[in-house]
Amino acid sequence: MNTLNQQYEEKVRPCIDLIDSLRSLGVEKDLALPAIAVIGDQSSGKSSVLEALSGVALPRGSGIVTRCPLELKMKRNKEGEKWFGKISYQDYNEEINNPADVEEKIREAQVKITGDDLGISDDPISLEIASPDVPDLTLIDLPGIVRVAVKNQPVNIGDQIKRLIQKFITKQETISLVVVPSNVDIATTEALKMAQEVDPDGERTLGILTKPDLVDKGTEDTIVKIVHNEAIHLRKGYMIVKCRGQHEIKENVSLIEAIEKEKTFFKEHAFFQTLYDKGQATVPKLAEKLTLELVHHIQKSLPHLEKQIEKELAQTQAQLDKCGNGPPCDTSERLNFLIDSITAFTQDAISLTTGEELKCDFRSKMFFMLRKEFSAWKETIELSGTRFNWNIEREVAQYDQKFRGRELPGFINYKTFEVMVQEQIKKLEEPAILKLKQVAETVKKELFKLAQRSFIGFPNLIKMAQINIEAIQKEKEDAAESMLRTQFKMELIVYTQDSTYSKKLGKRKREDEQDCGFSGLGTVKKTTISAANTSETKATLKEMMKHLKSYYQIVGQRLADQIPLVIRYQILQESAIQLQRQMLHMLQDKEKIEPLLQENTDIKCQRIHLQNRHKRLSKARMRLTKFTMNIYNFNATQLY
Ligand code: GDP
Ligand code: MG
Repeated sequence: MNTLNQQYEEKVRPCIDLIDSLRSLGVEKDLALPAIAVIGDQSSGKSSVLEALSGVALPRGSGIVTRCPLELKMKRNKEGEKWFGKISYQDYNEEINNPADVEEKIREAQVKITGDDLGISDDPISLEIASPDVPDLTLIDLPGIVRVAVKNQPVNIGDQIKRLIQKFITKQETISLVVVPSNVDIATTEALKMAQEVDPDGERTLGILTKPDLVDKGTEDTIVKIVHNEAIHLRKGYMIVKCRGQHEIKENVSLIEAIEKEKTFFKEHAFFQTLYDKGQATVPKLAEKLTLELVHHIQKSLPHLEKQIEKELAQTQAQLDKCGNGPPCDTSERLNFLIDSITAFTQDAISLTTGEELKCDFRSKMFFMLRKEFSAWKETIELSGTRFNWNIEREVAQYDQKFRGRELPGFINYKTFEVMVQEQIKKLEEPAILKLKQVAETVKKELFKLAQRSFIGFPNLIKMAQINIEAIQKEKEDAAESMLRTQFKMELIVYTQDSTYSKKLGKRKREDEQDCGFSGLGTVKKTTISAANTSETKATLKEMMKHLKSYYQIVGQRLADQIPLVIRYQILQESAIQLQRQMLHMLQDKEKIEPLLQENTDIKCQRIHLQNRHKRLSKARMRLTKFTMNIYNFNATQLY
């Protein structure tokens, strides 16, 4: 007995303490801990078994008595220490000094959680009991499975209960205790079916037969077979117990007396005696077995638990990073925090508009979008040029009607050339302004996004940044528009360097000659030139087409660069610099500092929630590491 006790203190106790301490940290909110859940049909005797194990009376009776998951945490005290109880649910905690009060307190709790109706709830009630007479165990009592709803119950009560049970037994960390009365056909038990669904090999399912005193005469050997694991096989096997029946409760048989009566019952039973001899019967044996099973299960679960904790910790940290740090409490540090946040944002805004890496993790595709916009602009110019070429050919054909004045054939005015060029360039003005507006919109959107990312959780800062961005962008867009308009006005002066022009023209002529060589008469042939035109005019007109095309190419190249340059200068560069100035200006107004630092309550709550979670997981990891180190040391000392 002494060695058994010693082993218990060395091996069993630390394991159970570890899980209890993790549970008391609250990590159960984050991950599943090893546990034993008690499931069974209504009135199969679940609460009676728990009662017998814990030594305290639990609510019992007909109908759905257990309406919330009840976590029964039992802790064995040293001999002579006082009984201690504590009930907690939702935000409520209460110490219980008398075991006799437990039943009433649980009933009270259930009413508070589920309301006075007869429904059920997922919200658990936790009952801690410390006493020299209980095993070190944590068990979860669940509502019993019912098939039909009775008066006032929700019609789908059966499904609700099943769903609740499934929630518990699906977890790999849960051992299912399936409670089945000896006087029903075990094969048809719903609870066993449910356990088999989630654990087909019965690796974490233990069967418990109750009410052996009510067994149908003549079916005793079937029961013995079941407990011998010869009927429906479960890896963890079966146990059989006898609890207090209704009659015994009425007669005030105490739980301690009941244990004695149970022992006598099995010892003297003609059929069940063998089960007693093999240690497969009685509540104390069940307690022993459960404790060992739980310890075994805990040891098996530890590596997985460690991994889970690591994973959760990493996830929590990532979420915390997203929430940001929040403002400090100290006044002078608050100002510094604000200055730092604004500086970081405006510097990122400048980096964004110059196409450099940002400090914050905001990934922008802005320059990619800009390149696309600007290359589309070049295509617009080229397309307009192609259309121009067609038009010139047509207009040349209509030259007599449209342009020719008093001049004799063969004379073509420089003025005519200028007018045609000017008209064509004018066609690019509105598309250029449109491009400006499109780019300005893109840039504004990206800056808005950056502000949201940089000032996450500070709605007032985001708002102020957006107001500034909006105003500055408007101002810069106007300035850019005016520059573009001026550019188009300047383009009415037909000008380029002589050498540039001569080069372009020379190249075009050579190309046209080659074209003629290939296609015979060249492009003009395709159009019908009015018969009135003499061949001189035709030749001169052809000549002018070469001039028009050459000049348009030069202007096209100039505008393809000039428009993007203006846009980049005003909308990107200048506006980012101005944004920095204006944002920093805000800091001068001392009144504004506090409102700017006002944090979004959701983010604040979320951060606190995540910080707490991080704290408990870190603590859990530490405890787990310490525990595994101890086991390692323990095993190591045993080796030598
Ligand atoms: P639960 O609904 O599964 O929690 O079942 P209870 O524990 O409330 O038990 C249902 C009824 O069966 C109660 O009246 C108990 O007194 C009775 N009961 C439980 N175990 C035994 C037993 O081993 N023998 C007898 N005769 N009655 C029992
Ligand atoms: Mg019950």
